[in-house]
Amino acid sequence: MREISIYIHIPFCLKKCKYCNFYSIEILNEKNYFDIFIDSLIKEIKIWFSKLNNLRIKSIYFGGGTPSIIHEKFYEKIFNEFNKFFDVSDVKEITIEANPETVEKLKFKELKKLGINRVSLGVQTFNDNFLYELGRVHNSKKIFEAMEILKSIYENINIDLIFGISGENLKILEDDLTKALYLEPKHISIYNLEFHKGTKLFDDLNIKKIYKWSEIKEKRGYLFIRNKLINNGFIHYEISNFSKDGFQSIHNLNYWLGGEYIGFGPSSYTFFKNTWYQNGNLHFYINSLDKNDLPFLKREILSNQKINKILFILNLRLLSGVDLNKYKDLDDKFYEKLNNLIKEGLIIKINNKIHLSIDGILVSNRIFSDLL
Ligand code: SF4
Repeated sequence: MREISIYIHIPFCLKKCKYCNFYSIEILNEKNYFDIFIDSLIKEIKIWFSKLNNLRIKSIYFGGGTPSIIHEKFYEKIFNEFNKFFDVSDVKEITIEANPETVEKLKFKELKKLGINRVSLGVQTFNDNFLYELGRVHNSKKIFEAMEILKSIYENINIDLIFGISGENLKILEDDLTKALYLEPKHISIYNLEFHKGTKLFDDLNIKKIYKWSEIKEKRGYLFIRNKLINNGFIHYEISNFSKDGFQSIHNLNYWLGGEYIGFGPSSYTFFKNTWYQNGNLHFYINSLDKNDLPFLKREILSNQKINKILFILNLRLLSGVDLNKYKDLDDKFYEKLNNLIKEGLIIKINNKIHLSIDGILVSNRIFSDLL
């Protein structure tokens, strides 16, 4: 039996955050599309699953965008469709991403009844000035209110945080971590703020309205976060992810361990049977499904060697590292690059197992693109 994960992209947000480079649309512009979008999504699920059999679904993840923006009646439709093809109650982990502004008790109770058992809350920071600077719609008061509601319904909650904000220092970062720990989530994801071309924050950086943390400050910040969370009982298991024992994200582990997944919704990605697919944007998506076509914008059949390289790199994100015995057929050039990274102290090799050093983690994006 084949084991896969499912990702569903809900591309709507209340407002575009200044740093965001995900595929998301402000609902002010697109709110008339909710019904049409869900009908297309149901169609996409039907087309995919009627072609497949003998599957076990490991995890389902509603990401975005802001999945918590849409009404629970839409989720009922989605789960009804899933239940025609597999038993949703057999799926171990079903996550929904939520923005604190959209957390309502009744809605989240209904979502729990449908089978959702994990919530990932987009907190980012508890500092109201920075929340405003990042263009978030919520304030810190909303975070505490949202967590109170969520904790009365769910055990498995993740908090997303960002560090490296212009004007932020280690004292403010410490305050964020203290407040996050006070809320007792089972999982914390913490990302270094990135400035992507095309975002407002990127423009602000270019005109020097804001600044980027120096590499030294980033390293201090990262070590500070790591120590604080480990000292508070969290396991550091992936570059940006920490969890309490037994609460590692099943869905994300499937990505990092190279498992297969099907992505539904506009702009989502699929990796299935050695093929990589990308769906088109909302309009392309709706139009394709209207014609009963799957909404692929791109499709690439990957060679075994390319799959091996990608899986190796994904594996390397995990602090547990990569077992070199599993990757015998990578080319000499790849091993040469790897050896250079070991000499530079960015990768540590013990017997036949390798993992990123702390310095390596801090430049991991460069390492991954080098190795590709
Ligand atoms: S809520 Fe998330 S997906 Fe939406 S704009 Fe902000 S960062 Fe992007």
